[in-house]
Amino acid sequence: MSKERTTPLSAEQPRVGELERIGLDGRDAIMIGVEAPGFDDLSAREKRFAYLMTRAAIAGNAIAFQQSHRDADDIVRLLEACFAHAEELDPAIRDALHEYLKLVWIHHGQYHHHTHGKFTPPRLTPAMLLTAARRAASRGAALPLHSGESVDTLLARLHRTIFDVEYEPVQTNQSAGVDIVATSAVNYYDPGVTKSEVDALAEWRERVNVRFAVRDGRVVPEVFRIGGVFGPELETVSHFVRLALPHAESDEQRAALGALLDFYATGDERHFREHMIHWLQSDTRVDYLNGFIESYLDPRGVIAQFEGNASFRAGGGLIERIAASAPYFEAKMPWPDAYKRTDVSRPVATIVNVLVETGDAGPVSPAAYNLPNYNDIRRDHGSKNVILHNVENTRAEGLEQAVVHEFFLPEYRDPVLALLHSLVRPLKVYLHEIIGHGSGRPDPALGAMDPRARLGRVYSALEEARADLVALYHVGDPKMVEIGAYDDTMRDVVVETAFISYLQGWVSRMDRVEGLEVREAHDRGHHAILMWLVRGGERRRDYGVEVVSIDGDYFVRVTDTDRAHEGVGELLSRLQVIKSTGDADAAHRIFDEFGTHLDPAWKANITARREKLKLPKLKAFVFPHLTPVVRDGEIVDVRLAYDEDLTAQQLRFRRLEHSREIAEGA
Ligand SMILES: [Zn+2]
Repeated sequence: MSKERTTPLSAEQPRVGELERIGLDGRDAIMIGVEAPGFDDLSAREKRFAYLMTRAAIAGNAIAFQQSHRDADDIVRLLEACFAHAEELDPAIRDALHEYLKLVWIHHGQYHHHTHGKFTPPRLTPAMLLTAARRAASRGAALPLHSGESVDTLLARLHRTIFDVEYEPVQTNQSAGVDIVATSAVNYYDPGVTKSEVDALAEWRERVNVRFAVRDGRVVPEVFRIGGVFGPELETVSHFVRLALPHAESDEQRAALGALLDFYATGDERHFREHMIHWLQSDTRVDYLNGFIESYLDPRGVIAQFEGNASFRAGGGLIERIAASAPYFEAKMPWPDAYKRTDVSRPVATIVNVLVETGDAGPVSPAAYNLPNYNDIRRDHGSKNVILHNVENTRAEGLEQAVVHEFFLPEYRDPVLALLHSLVRPLKVYLHEIIGHGSGRPDPALGAMDPRARLGRVYSALEEARADLVALYHVGDPKMVEIGAYDDTMRDVVVETAFISYLQGWVSRMDRVEGLEVREAHDRGHHAILMWLVRGGERRRDYGVEVVSIDGDYFVRVTDTDRAHEGVGELLSRLQVIKSTGDADAAHRIFDEFGTHLDPAWKANITARREKLKLPKLKAFVFPHLTPVVRDGEIVDVRLAYDEDLTAQQLRFRRLEHSREIAEGA
């Protein structure tokens, strides 16, 4: 039996922490099992609600595959069918198949979650896949055959999509000077649809839940709703939302779920906006996320990918004190007063443990989120900040030590190891999410025009850079000492650690960029900040940051944190003015100059060092396994176990995808 097969484990061996590494030399991903301490303390009602919302999340997971690429859902179902009948295959074929299947699960298709670049199977060959598929077909497996297709024609249809890295190489193309819609492989647009054709559909082009198809030679919008695109999935999602609704914790949460059901039933985005208003105002012990939320996959930055989660509150303290200081930080922002919020209400900020994340949110997970993305709702109703404590806190300690030792100059190593995980990273995450994204206001001259629409493809990168800059700008503020974040004597080392870990942290991850062009929004933000500080901004000043070469290896050095702080303030002010005035030209200029092009020598060096250490390029997560205890059709308790790896978890999600039964296998 292959070492990668799932074996049941006893309760004494919980599957938490590092579980496995995937890909050649284990470098494509590290899987980490997430714990959810405190779940057992929830009331029966809270557990029931949480469980039902995990099912609503699981029921939508398949949507993310369908959105990723027109063939991604067929690919994952083909691989799963082959894997289900793989026992008697040559172990080399079985392992190669399993490896590619794991990567497809993690990324919801054949494009990298972060870079949007295509990957092909590390070891699986077309001949191996054909052998496995024929075997599966002969055992009666349900393959994703189109009408009239045989196993061989199915594989021929998918051949280039799976094995040819040059074929549709980019899922989300935001490069300058190209038709970003026509050159993006994401399945939000049928092949051949152009950006001007989408732009011409004024009534539809700003909608989060619509894709653009070609019917009888015309481009037509198709809405994500029950009875429309993703109808079967949204019906099952809605089924579990309806079951959860009576167990909601507050009227606000009930109203949110009611609006969500209306949204899925009608596809009318006004209901989703209404949902987000109730959702952001519901400050409950058990929370969820469900819907079409982030638009990173859309080259236009509009259409959103499905994601779902369920979570429960896990402590507070520092985060609440930072949230309470929001008006103070807003007043101290380095940009003109005209673009500061004067009505800063205390943001809702919570630390949670997540129970499951699907679609855009998992197995690759954010550390936190700040929603909604609708800027007018944020302005009029505020936002909710959620930090994913258990995801953020899972550690692979050996990995961390190796990275710090290899990539940080000796003088930074001890402080980074001592402070990054315990203090500096949480502080930066809190400031980024709670103070950063929620800050600033548009120029009144912009009227109701959303800056997102004005700035187009560069908006997400600008917004992530802005939030990172806010964190770097305020991390050393005297307020931090006042609210007990750290002791006054630690201020300098905290600030230095914040800057060096941010800048060196990005440099040491540069290998994850495909080619030399940075595409992912957060990465573009990191790169813009690094290069702005290294080059001294547009005026080429000295901001006390340099990239040095020592024995051919590149390192970041911060020679003067005061100057670095000044450079951060200058870029932050620039970006806020750009956002407030919707100055798309200036945004493009800054990101094209500072946030796009990698130095080939730096990238080659970082890549070689990561290869030498066999460092994984991506972290992904396995969530706890929840099992309801059902009596007389009612959930009376929910048991939580850590007994799954990625494979067991994804196969369970598949078994449950259209199931309406409360208990698995019922
Ligand atoms: Zn962010």
